[in-house]
Amino acid sequence: MHMLRTLILLMVLPIFLPCSGWSQEPVMAPEYIKEINTLKANGQVKLAFDRIEKEDAETVRDMIHLTEILAPPFGEGPKGQAFAELLRQAGADSVWTDPEGNVFGLRKGTATETGYVGLDAHLDVVFPEGTDVKVRYVGDTLKAPGIGDDTRGLAMVIRILNVMKETGIRTRKDLLFVGSVGEEGLGDLRGMKYIFNQSGLNIDSWIAIDGGEIGRISNAGLGSKRYKVIIRGPGGHSWGAFGLANPHHALGKVIDQFSTAAWDFTSGDISKTSFNVGRIGGGTSVNSIPFESWMEVDMRALDPENLAEVEKILKTTVQQAIDEYNASGVKGKVEYELEPIGDRPSGELPSSLPLIQRTMAATASFGETPVLGRGSTNINIPVSLGIPSVCIGRGGKGGGAHSLHEWYLNEDGAKAIQLALLIALAQAGFEN
Ligand SMILES: [Zn+2]
Repeated sequence: MHMLRTLILLMVLPIFLPCSGWSQEPVMAPEYIKEINTLKANGQVKLAFDRIEKEDAETVRDMIHLTEILAPPFGEGPKGQAFAELLRQAGADSVWTDPEGNVFGLRKGTATETGYVGLDAHLDVVFPEGTDVKVRYVGDTLKAPGIGDDTRGLAMVIRILNVMKETGIRTRKDLLFVGSVGEEGLGDLRGMKYIFNQSGLNIDSWIAIDGGEIGRISNAGLGSKRYKVIIRGPGGHSWGAFGLANPHHALGKVIDQFSTAAWDFTSGDISKTSFNVGRIGGGTSVNSIPFESWMEVDMRALDPENLAEVEKILKTTVQQAIDEYNASGVKGKVEYELEPIGDRPSGELPSSLPLIQRTMAATASFGETPVLGRGSTNINIPVSLGIPSVCIGRGGKGGGAHSLHEWYLNEDGAKAIQLALLIALAQAGFEN
């Protein structure tokens, strides 16, 4: 059976994959390779690259300092303040925090071209209040929740601003050095949604630092929809009120019907769609009929139409399962509510865009093979609006993201900072 499925996949894949964005053979235009090489040969840029290497210890110091200030989703304030202080020390022309909590450091351009080029890493981590974020060394490896994702990125943003100040590098466009909020989970990209939909800032393009290895470049957003399904009933004693409508029993039915129907839909799907019941909860004690039962569901798809379809399946099956449960002879009934808790748009930018060309050329100039891909990151927002944006890696070595065992090893970490600087300078227009 598996063998057969593999065979079918092998026959079908070459036809369908080129549309998915993953296998896109990126073509690098010679003009951008030339532009990057010229930039790299410039004395000021060379000096900046040097400073980045010399200041490696300071970058690690900033990274440890920021990691040890916990920033759970919706609790980024203190870490944002510390980041703002580092932006001031690194010589930002002005520093401010917007109403959503995003922290900005501006390095003014020579104003011959308008529009901000943003360079961001996110302030928030997935970990809740109370998590131990003390950084520990195990040999040369740094260990702490959030050390890599994305605090390494924040330290890179600071270092780039700092070496620009030290070497006097100027760009034609204004550069914004940003610590963004709400990238993770239920934050639902609220920081980026504010910047692009409400702030009124004229953003030219966006470079997000929020990935691992430096060869991988994200130019597309994987869309997702998330819901909390809450089922409520009267509640009562398990013996005394036996027979009353039970929200947990109803939720079991909902999960069964939803997962069966969604599985039927996704297993025939060649461009990937996924669904997941990630958390369930509710209830007061083993001998109580609960008054509430809930679950959180995450659905993702490359294709917006598939995402809409799996969302429809959720809505239909919840309604059906609840109706069936209420009609099963229980006393009273349960009611439900679907609360949207996440909506990340999908989209993809053509690899011919200057920003993507520059990112690929710069990556190749460091001896890495650029690979374009898709993720669920801050750039989902600008990508869905057609604004040039890329998400690039933090470099070094790391692992265990989103776990308490997260680690980072600063092996060639400076290279990723040099690369990010190079892309930012090319995009914002290096002023000779
Ligand atoms: Zn991240």
